[in-house]
Amino acid sequence: MTLKKRYKIMLYKRSSELFAQAKKVLPGGVNSPVRAFNAVGGEPIFIREAQGAYLIDEDGRKLIDYIASWGPLILGHAYPPVIDAVTERAKKGTSFGIPTEIEIKIAELAVAMVPNIDKIRFVNSGTEACMSAIRLARGYTNRDKIIKFAGCYHGHSDSFLIEAGSGATTFGSPNSPGVTQGTAKDTLLARYNDIESVKALFEANKDQIAGVIIEPIAGNMGCVPPKKGFLEGLRKLCTENGTLLIFDEVMTGFRLAKGGAQEVLNIQADIVTFGKVIGGGLPVGAFAARNEIMRFLAPEGPVYQAGTLSGNPLAMSAGLAMLTELNNNPQVFESLAKKTAYLHEGFDKVLSKTDIPYQINRFGSMISLHFNENPVVDFESSAKGNLERFKKYFHGMLAEGIYLPPSAFESYFLNDALTYEDLDTTIQALEKIIGDRCLN
Ligand SMILES: *Cc1c(COP(=O)(O)O)cnc(C)c1O
Repeated sequence: MTLKKRYKIMLYKRSSELFAQAKKVLPGGVNSPVRAFNAVGGEPIFIREAQGAYLIDEDGRKLIDYIASWGPLILGHAYPPVIDAVTERAKKGTSFGIPTEIEIKIAELAVAMVPNIDKIRFVNSGTEACMSAIRLARGYTNRDKIIKFAGCYHGHSDSFLIEAGSGATTFGSPNSPGVTQGTAKDTLLARYNDIESVKALFEANKDQIAGVIIEPIAGNMGCVPPKKGFLEGLRKLCTENGTLLIFDEVMTGFRLAKGGAQEVLNIQADIVTFGKVIGGGLPVGAFAARNEIMRFLAPEGPVYQAGTLSGNPLAMSAGLAMLTELNNNPQVFESLAKKTAYLHEGFDKVLSKTDIPYQINRFGSMISLHFNENPVVDFESSAKGNLERFKKYFHGMLAEGIYLPPSAFESYFLNDALTYEDLDTTIQALEKIIGDRCLN
């Protein structure tokens, strides 16, 4: 056995034992595919606990976390106001299936923070939010078809598992078995950042398109910001065609600004979906729109949508505590963007001294490093990255105590508990693994 191999086994001894156990009772040993490390090789590490910007794994190692539970923990792990809210709430009962006041409080706050929405419906995940949003768009417009963009991920419901980006891309099975042809035919695919591709679909499907769903700043093919004019063009096309523009802000909502991408880009969507940050680390999703659209939703209107645990008081208390913190301290968005820019500059400095082809994409507190020759502007260009190099990078950084997304098609999510010292440690880790010729 090589020394390197033995070192690795010692490093991940307990995680490795747990993974063997997990595989016997959980498919692939996990409850969500990207956690399994299939895209980077090796075995996942198991987490025992976390505080602020740090994860502690089951072998007792401390890791600097760049995924923050894939976005929700924007203020860091075990953030005291959120933990206190959840703990206090739990003592009074965790679920009733009967209305509670806290649902009004979080709804009022969300409606006040986000532009162009009057009402919001809470669900349990981003998947549910996006699935319900297109049902609402179809019910409202009385049309069947939707447009999505290659490389955008809107959760795992049938209509969206078509070139879905993220985990689905990672596994090279963009069209999952189990999605029927009947469902797939109503999902039309356009190219991100290519307004002509959208125009062509509108022309070929006149008066048939209920909604266009998009990640306004894509985060599931790495971070891919919209080109100037692209979303404006999309807004115009939707308005002209009586089609609803749906911004999937599951990732960007309450992360880029109080009002998410709509606010930052100054573009109004017709329906907005949320997840991740809105739940403060508990399972919450939501979708929202103006009254004229939301009144189509049951029980006010005919479009059915329901959930036993929707608006669950425990989840709402975490979400309310999180949104309250962000609403009271909006400078956090600025602080996060600065930290992300600092990381970007640091990585640039290290990588520009090498002959490794790379691209860094960044928007607010979302950032991704691509081992690509050419700019990453859509799914096709993102997919051209050097995946072998990405694997080496991921494992090299992990061995240095940096936990990055275990896939080349994911954005990093910075959390505000990260200090500049943590960022320096991260930049130095990259310098070290390059010095050790890990990326060759
Ligand atoms: C994470 C994500 C989803 C799915 O949310 P889940 O809570 O994982 O179901 C949908 N859309 C976007 C943009 C996401 O990033």
